[in-house]
Amino acid sequence: ESAAAGVAASEALATLHRVFGYEAFRGEQEAVIEHVVAGGDAVVLMPTGGGKSLCYQIPALVRPGTGVVVSPLIALMQDQVDALRALGVRAGFMNSTQDFDERRTVEAEFLAGELDLLYLAPERLRLDATLDLLSRGKISVFAIDEAHCVSQWGHDFRPDYLTLSLLGRRWPDVPRIALTATATHATHREITERLDMPTARHFVASFDRPNIQYRIVPKADPKKQLLSFLREEHPGDAGIVYCLSRNSVEKTAEFLSSNGIEAVPYHAGLDAGTRAAHQSRFLREDGLVVVATIAFGMGIDKPDVRFVAHLDLPKSVEGYYQETGRAGRDGLPSTAWMAYGLNDVIQQRKLIQSGEGDEAFQRRAQAHLDAMLALCETVQCRRGQLLAYFGQEPDPSGCGNCDTCLTPPETWDGTVAAQKVLSTVVRLQRERGQKFGAVQIVDILLGKRTGKVIQFDHDQLSVFGIGQELTEGEWRGVIRQLLAQGLLAVEGEYGTLVLTDASASVLRREREVPLRKEPKRAPTQRTGSGG
Ligand code: ADP
Ligand code: ZN
Repeated sequence: ESAAAGVAASEALATLHRVFGYEAFRGEQEAVIEHVVAGGDAVVLMPTGGGKSLCYQIPALVRPGTGVVVSPLIALMQDQVDALRALGVRAGFMNSTQDFDERRTVEAEFLAGELDLLYLAPERLRLDATLDLLSRGKISVFAIDEAHCVSQWGHDFRPDYLTLSLLGRRWPDVPRIALTATATHATHREITERLDMPTARHFVASFDRPNIQYRIVPKADPKKQLLSFLREEHPGDAGIVYCLSRNSVEKTAEFLSSNGIEAVPYHAGLDAGTRAAHQSRFLREDGLVVVATIAFGMGIDKPDVRFVAHLDLPKSVEGYYQETGRAGRDGLPSTAWMAYGLNDVIQQRKLIQSGEGDEAFQRRAQAHLDAMLALCETVQCRRGQLLAYFGQEPDPSGCGNCDTCLTPPETWDGTVAAQKVLSTVVRLQRERGQKFGAVQIVDILLGKRTGKVIQFDHDQLSVFGIGQELTEGEWRGVIRQLLAQGLLAVEGEYGTLVLTDASASVLRREREVPLRKEPKRAPTQRTGSGG
């Protein structure tokens, strides 16, 4: 038993040297590979760039037969296979982009035992023809890449992943390895249950990405803020800018280009040819910026992405972690930068309420968003909060490489300000039977006689002009934080503000409301990587 394990281990190391040209295994790789080579099932949670590929590629090479890799990343299969072939690994793929002849060739190679690795899209495994084919050949290991696609809660959910549990029943003697960079306990459990891997060993690497500097700044003029961030800290660097809508992707890419920064758009509304061209330019060129929706990025292996910027709020911490994790895979200093404001909160809340899904689904979506908001509003170390979210013990003294560690935010007693906002909302509703959005509430507090204020006689309210001690931006910050803390809620398609159950305790002066002080100007810090 242990002699066999020893042989397996030395064969694995020899393969690492001979085929991949690397000196040593990293982190958990060695333990994972030994376990799978010996025939065990494994669930592997490793951050992006952690080296998941070798965890199945080496067992596939060491064990007799073909390693079958299930991956949703059809667009990348050709590249992955080409890269492996360049190393002398006999690899092939089967997906919908191939013509009949190409597929027949791969099938024949597989049946003849001439493939070390075969990449498949998950939808292939729904076809009896594919299952028959696999039954007629010899399989060394099943690798299920991007295994979080089995989770209905992520934005990467693929229904076809739910059928993958059949692999274990149909091939009980073939080890399975499920891999992902998403690592909440919930996703972890879902992977294990839905892929039916109760006896799998679990390998959880640290989720810390110490070379990524996390920064979240208040949104004022986001495109301009982005531009100065790029000019000051990342001139000439490659990076990704995420936006929520196709329209803002296009506009932001144009804005950057017209300001001398080479940028291309990427979203699902572009034709396949343009998308492929922009993706391959990003991979091959130095210093290109891709402005994209979240359609871009999964599986992109570009080591020198120096920054990931978010102009809109991600829906969950998982999404944020995954997207920012595309920066700095080479281990060099990189920045995860986000501009975040009141409209983000309102927009995301509206999206959830008007979106699909039953009540339970919406509640969970809401909980995911709340965790993301908590990360945005925290006055503590952002990295610590991220790691704690993923169940890891953070360093109690802070990381020294996030905005809150570098420039600790001040807090102030926002109890009175909160009461003013909430009583304005209450007055409108009780005295007038009206609901309004944040703009009108702020205008009333500031005592501005705008057209809409006059039209609704809001200058007659007792709360009119009671908030002149703060600026418009500061009031928006107060409202944003009240929303994030659940002391205020958003309703309906116009994003009107309404009270929550928790609001009452503030109005009754039973609780204090500490708030984060809004910086006068978005602070900038050097990452050490740019000029
Ligand atoms: P993941 O799939 O986890 O995001 P990859 O498998 O793509 O990560 O690996 C990330 C990078 O690290 C790749 O460029 C890979 O070649 C490199 N790498 C992986 N393992 C090792 C190792 N043991 N030694 C050196 N480089 C490695
Ligand atoms: Zn920190």
